[in-house]
Amino acid sequence: MFLKSIEVQGFKSFANKILFEFNDGITGIVGPNGSGKSNVAEAVRWVLGEQSAKQLRGTSMQDVIFAGTQNRKPQGYAYVAITLDNSDHSLPIDYDEVTVSRRVYRSGESEYLMNGSSCRLRDINELFYDTGIGKEGYSIIGQGQIDKILSGKPEDRRELFDEAAGIVKFKKRKNIAQKKLEDEQQNLVRVNDILSELEKQVGPLEEQSKKAREYLNLKEQLKNLDMQSFHLENKVQKEKLMEVENNISVVTGNLEEERKHSEELQSHYDELAEKISHVDAGLEKSRESLSASHLARESMEGQIKVLEEQIHTEEASEEHVQGRMSAIETELSEKKQQKADFTHQKGEINESLDALDDRQGM
Ligand code: ATP
Repeated sequence: MFLKSIEVQGFKSFANKILFEFNDGITGIVGPNGSGKSNVAEAVRWVLGEQSAKQLRGTSMQDVIFAGTQNRKPQGYAYVAITLDNSDHSLPIDYDEVTVSRRVYRSGESEYLMNGSSCRLRDINELFYDTGIGKEGYSIIGQGQIDKILSGKPEDRRELFDEAAGIVKFKKRKNIAQKKLEDEQQNLVRVNDILSELEKQVGPLEEQSKKAREYLNLKEQLKNLDMQSFHLENKVQKEKLMEVENNISVVTGNLEEERKHSEELQSHYDELAEKISHVDAGLEKSRESLSASHLARESMEGQIKVLEEQIHTEEASEEHVQGRMSAIETELSEKKQQKADFTHQKGEINESLDALDDRQGM
């Protein structure tokens, strides 16, 4: 197993995407102070799960994201991926090449990926147990750390040697087993407590058990009595059922007769209905001819009324003519009378004139 490459983007001073490739032999990164050499080692420590911002020379985890310069805007996220050759299968995973990556956003959201699939930090830690790789591993020795290791407490140094000896995995398992053992011992204490509590209850429980046996005995008797009662009830119900079945057969016979009778009535009814419909048709015809007669009568009555009106008018005009004639006759007789009077007067006048003439002739 060996480190093949480190890809960094947006992490600390590396705003652009940068890829460090490590080939056979020794690869060294050189540069002036403050050019970002330690940032490379920190990128590896970070991708392997470093949780302490202080260890990465920052105050919060967001400090690892490129903060921008005078000429460059800050980045939205930091991304680091390391690729290891696993063709010797030192890492307990089926792949010949393993890429572990980590990404963090300014919002605080972060994710770990193993060969492109999302995973937990725990999966990454378990992958690197006893390989010397890891945030606490001896494969990353920072500035001044050698001094710290040599002058540090023996317990701290022990961790480094355990890792190198490949017993961390077993120590972790031992710790887990011990934790389980402690839990089981706690459970055992609890079980003993319960047991002693239960022992105190044995006396009353015996009494209760006696009562329970009595109860079961009585329950058994009750069950037998219930069964007998059920059999009796069943017998009575069966008899009733037979009776009901007999009644049903009688009723069924009656029903059949009634059905036949009903059919006869129905056919009779149908015949009558047909006759009624014939009668109805005749009635309808009579009604129609009656209404035609009514219409004819009304029309004739109308004509009679018109004729009566005409007669009445003629009579009125005849009366008028009669009146006029008698008036004319009266006028005629008056005129005749006047004529006679005038004739008479004329005769008298003529006589007078003749008398005058006679006088004048004398
Ligand atoms: P030395 O030899 O002194 O240890 P070095 O080469 O290891 O230096 P680093 O300490 O790795 O350099 O890099 C420090 C540089 O990284 C500084 O210039 C600092 O401004 C820059 N830097 C650190 N964090 C960020 C960040 N979040 N955004 C931009 N630049 C950063």
